[in-house]
Amino acid sequence: MRTGLFVATVLLWSHSPLRAQIATGVIDPFIQKIVDAISEERIAAHMRRLETFETRNTLTPSRGPNHGIAAARQWLFEEFKSYSPRLQVRFESHKVKKFGTRFFRDGQVVNVVAVLPGTRDPERSIVVSAHYDTLHVVRKPTTAGSTEPGVIDGEMSAAEQSAPGVTDDGSGTAAVLELARVMSQQQFDATVVFIAFDAEEYGSVGANLYATRAREQKQRIDAVLNNDIIGSEATGDGRTDSRRVHVFSEEPADSASRNLSRYIKDVAERYVPSMKADPVFRHDRFARGGDHTQFNQEGFAAVRVTSAAEYLSNQHTGTDTFANSSPGYTARVARVNAAALASLALAPKAPDITPPGGAQGRAVTNIGRGKSGYAAQLRWKNETPETDLAGYSVLLRSTLAPLWERSIFVGNVNEYTLEGVSIDELVFGVQAVDKEGHASLPAVYVAAPAPKVRLETE
Ligand SMILES: [Zn+2]
Repeated sequence: MRTGLFVATVLLWSHSPLRAQIATGVIDPFIQKIVDAISEERIAAHMRRLETFETRNTLTPSRGPNHGIAAARQWLFEEFKSYSPRLQVRFESHKVKKFGTRFFRDGQVVNVVAVLPGTRDPERSIVVSAHYDTLHVVRKPTTAGSTEPGVIDGEMSAAEQSAPGVTDDGSGTAAVLELARVMSQQQFDATVVFIAFDAEEYGSVGANLYATRAREQKQRIDAVLNNDIIGSEATGDGRTDSRRVHVFSEEPADSASRNLSRYIKDVAERYVPSMKADPVFRHDRFARGGDHTQFNQEGFAAVRVTSAAEYLSNQHTGTDTFANSSPGYTARVARVNAAALASLALAPKAPDITPPGGAQGRAVTNIGRGKSGYAAQLRWKNETPETDLAGYSVLLRSTLAPLWERSIFVGNVNEYTLEGVSIDELVFGVQAVDKEGHASLPAVYVAAPAPKVRLETE
C-alpha cells in the first residue's frame, strides 16, 4: 500500500516448463530503494564484531563485557535499539532443562526480538531470522577397528574453545541487523519481526520455544525467512558460487513453504538481478538442521536461506573466521531477503480458498470443471479486502513444472473460469494484488484424496 499507478501484470508463456519463471512483475521504486540501501560495509563490520566475542556457545559463561554469548546478545539488543524508535526490541529468555548430548546442562536460552509494527494489518507478520549462537565440535577419535567417524562429545564441545561462528551464523545475524536498520526507516502494511535466535546449535532450542508459542497464541505469521550460513561463496573442494543462494522448502510440492520459495525467487531475482535465488525442494540438507524446521513443524511457511557453496570443514571449528568469510556475498543475500520481505509486507493478505463449510476433500471444493465440464472454474473469497486492492492474479503451471509458468491478472472478482483447460493436469493458485502490483503469497488448489473406507468382510 502506497500511492501510485497500478501497472498491469505482464504475461509470459514459456515453452519449457523446466526453466519457466513468470514475469508477473513490476518494479516498485520504493522496494528497490530498500534493496539498494543494504550496506556491505555495515554487514562486514557486524561480522567482525561478532567474531570478537571469541565464542557464542550458549552454555559457556561470559568472561567480562566483551566475551561470550551474554555479551554478544547485549550488543545485538543495543544495535537493534539504535536503528529506530519504532523498533520494539526485547529479550525473550527461557530456562531450559538439559537434554540430548549438546545441551548437556540446564541453561538460559535468550532470543533477541525486534518488532516493526505494521501500519495497516499489524496482526499479520513476516519473520526474518538467524541464529547468533555458535559451536565448536570436538569429535572423539574413531575407535580402533571401527569405520564409523567419532561421535560428538557434548561436554567437550561446550568447553572454552574458540567458536567464532562468522559464517555459521554470524553472517545471517549480520544480515538480520542490517535488514532491521534499513526497513525500520520505512513503514509497511504488515508487521516485520527480526529475530536473532539462541541455541540453534544445541537443537534449535530458541526457535522451538518461539514457534511453539506462536502457534499456541494463533499468531498470523505469513512467512519465515531463516538465514543460516550465508557468508561463504567457496566450497572446500575449490568450487565458487558467488551469485546464487539456496532456498530450502519442505515437501509436499505445494506446501506453503514451497510456495514461499517460489515467491522469493520471483521477487528477489527481479530486484537483485545479479543473484539467483534457487529453490531446493527438500526441507534441509541431509543430516543437518535449522531453525526454519521448528516453524514448519508448527504449521508455518518457513524456508532456509543458505549459501550454495558451503565450506564444510570451517563450520563448527575455530576457523569459521571473518578472514574465511565473504561479506560481499552476505550483502547480496541480504538484498535478496530485503526484496522478498518488503514485497510480502506491502502486499495484501492472501485470498481464502477454503471450500464452503470448510470441508477438505472432493465433495465440496472451490475448484471445478465449469458448465462445459472442460474448464477450470476457480473460486475464492476475501471478506475484508484492503482499500487499495486491485484484484487477483491466477497462477498456472503443469504438475510437472517446478515453478509457476503463467500469471493472469483477472480483475477484482471472486471467481474466474479458464475455458478449455484441464484442472487435472495443471496446478492453480490465486494471489491478491494491490494497486501498485504487490502480490500476496498464493493460495493454491490441491487435490486431496477421499478418506479410505475400511470395509467389513465376512
Ligand atoms: Zn547454523
